[in-house]
Amino acid sequence: MIIRYERNGKVKHGWQVEEENKVRVIEGDIYKQDDRKPVMTGLELPLEELRVLAPCAPSKVVCIGVNYKDHAVEMGKDLPAEPLMFMKPSTAVIGPGEAIVYPSLTENLHYEGELAVVIKKTARHIKAEQAEEYILGFTCAIDVTARDLQQRDGQWTRAKGFDTFCPLGPAIAPKLDYNNLRIVTRVNGEVRQDSNTSQMVFKVPQLLEAITSVMTLLPGDVVLTGTPAGVGQLHVGDEISVTIEGIGTLTNRVVAP
Ligand code: MG
Repeated sequence: MIIRYERNGKVKHGWQVEEENKVRVIEGDIYKQDDRKPVMTGLELPLEELRVLAPCAPSKVVCIGVNYKDHAVEMGKDLPAEPLMFMKPSTAVIGPGEAIVYPSLTENLHYEGELAVVIKKTARHIKAEQAEEYILGFTCAIDVTARDLQQRDGQWTRAKGFDTFCPLGPAIAPKLDYNNLRIVTRVNGEVRQDSNTSQMVFKVPQLLEAITSVMTLLPGDVVLTGTPAGVGQLHVGDEISVTIEGIGTLTNRVVAP
């Protein structure tokens, strides 16, 4: 799986074999659009020597609301006729282990565990059938939401856009059966969401077709695909984790402003 890390002031990508504490250094651009593949060097580094970052640095994060059947039921919402889009700024992104800051402007902070798609190459007006060639891989995300501001504002920029409101990671899994992945969210070790991506209303290829009919997705951009049932509150001091089958576990802690 692909990780992004900082070591001695330099940011690079590496390949981490699952369950192993070693990372093989990747040279070159993992988003290269020509046939030259990124070069996997023979150099291996111990994971503990690296500061693991968010696995990509998106220019934007495009999110989909109400995209799980079980979540639509719990929110008392009808299933949307077409994908419901909103965005988070790039400045909301944090990596594994980094702190989610509880803003003083909200009194009702929520978690939403989500499958995230990382875009490989520039995508504009693509069809669902072509979508896979534009996908670098998949990672875990938390769509942190100020639920009171979401209800008060009517549109979601403020509620979803605070700094630290988009944890991503820990790694990008390039190949996954993304239509059938177990997704589990835990708060302080207690299971709060336990669902499967098969519950998605609009599947990943349909989402990419819909989004790129509006805006161009760039290499490293991220699409959050919606959350299953079981959303709920976060408090200062909570540890939140999202585990997706085939990817791993993203863990972050909530801190006071
Ligand atoms: Mg969401």
